[in-house]
Amino acid sequence: MNSVPEPPRRILVVGGGVAGFSAVNELRTRGYEGALTVLSPEGLPYDRPPLSKGYLLGTEDADKIRLAPEAWYAERGVEVLPERAVALRPAEGGVELDGGRLLAADRVLLAVGGAPRSLRIPGGEAALTLRSRADSDALRQVLVPGARVAIVGAGLIGAEVASAAVGLGAEVALIDPVELPLAPAVGEAIARRLHAMHGERGVRTVVSLPVEIAAGNANDGAAHLVRLADGSSVVADAVVAGIGIVPETGLAAAAGIAVDDGVIVDPSGATSNPAVFAAGDASRLRVADGTLLRRAEHWEAAVRSGQAAAAGLLGEPAPAFGAPWLWSDRHGVHVEAVGTLDPRQAPGSRTVLRAVGGVPQAAFLLAADGHLLGCAAVDLPLMVRAARRMIDRGLTPDPDALADPAVDPRKLAR
Ligand SMILES: Cc1cc2nc3c(=O)[nH]c(=O)nc-3n(C[C@H](O)[C@H](O)[C@H](O)COP(=O)(O)OP(=O)(O)OC[C@H]3O[C@@H](n4cnc5c(N)ncnc54)[C@H](O)[C@@H]3O)c2cc1C
Repeated sequence: MNSVPEPPRRILVVGGGVAGFSAVNELRTRGYEGALTVLSPEGLPYDRPPLSKGYLLGTEDADKIRLAPEAWYAERGVEVLPERAVALRPAEGGVELDGGRLLAADRVLLAVGGAPRSLRIPGGEAALTLRSRADSDALRQVLVPGARVAIVGAGLIGAEVASAAVGLGAEVALIDPVELPLAPAVGEAIARRLHAMHGERGVRTVVSLPVEIAAGNANDGAAHLVRLADGSSVVADAVVAGIGIVPETGLAAAAGIAVDDGVIVDPSGATSNPAVFAAGDASRLRVADGTLLRRAEHWEAAVRSGQAAAAGLLGEPAPAFGAPWLWSDRHGVHVEAVGTLDPRQAPGSRTVLRAVGGVPQAAFLLAADGHLLGCAAVDLPLMVRAARRMIDRGLTPDPDALADPAVDPRKLAR
């Protein structure tokens, strides 16, 4: 006779980011009635994307960016403790907190996110980074009118900070060794349009690699001098690095759980230890054929993996999720991308553009057999929604209709 696994009586979620929050929400939605505790050293869970957008600009406050009000947790019987886990002790049936107390749990979800990657160059520790609300508060202090700000990394976060910084009146130099940042994520045409916006809005883009952050000199009256590989330098009152994150794998690795640039999980969030699951930016998915996927560092991926881990924690099948999606807001435009836009990942693929007056509004990547692989668009969320449906259903849209601005996106997915 098959034995039915006992449902967990006490689940502990380590980390109150959007992955942990989504798991908690999903656990209660699925009818889990056991004890549920979230360790969240930063207090009530809040959302990170506004930290480089509205919160940084001062148009949204700490209350606005909370994932749920305090009452939400009380109504669902969810305990939120502002404490940090220092060790997983699965053999002892719990997790050790900072201070030595052992918190009992028969299942643990690691949703611990990651830390900003630091600039590994001489003086690199002088660069500010952005991950937490406190980081955003600190950044806001230096983004004042006339401040000279050097931002290293022109990816999603660096570009958003550059946009906010010029909006706040700072003089911004955006430094990246790559000519066309974001091209793998949104395709070349949209990346070119987005990158050109920096210049139009007064951000100076610099294509080079920083090699040192030295002290500024008295003539410039600036705190820093960012020396670049091409021999030039940028004078700055503040330096910000936006060069990705390092996943938090320390707790898992110390407990002997398999990690490889992320805590390795299956599609239901299970790690190599049956009592421990993982989700969000800290995790890395191994799919059924054994392939380890690249780690996602995007909001929706964190939500979905939290939901999948909730199913896994309860021993239920994980929901199937479709193509990955991301968004970014900068210089007053809203960008979304779904699926893949990187032709290197699909030999024989081709890109189709939808442009108005020569300005690309949307880019589509079509596989060699014609089915849609990805779409990125500027201020066209309906188009991305339609593309998402087409990708998830494996449709082969008419390339002429994709390219024609007169064709309503909603008609494309029918
Ligand atoms: C400034 C910014 C802007 C972004 N903008 C976008 C965007 O526009 N679009 C998009 O798709 N994505 C965006 N992202 C990415 C997205 O926010 C992340 O992918 C998402 O927040 C990851 O959620 P998470 O829960 O996995 O990790 P996190 O949000 O990092 O949460 C992890 C939590 O775990 C806690 N923790 C860590 N260690 C411990 C421990 N030992 N004990 C207890 N708790 C611990 C941390 O304090 C943290 O609160 C942005 C991210 C940032 C930082």
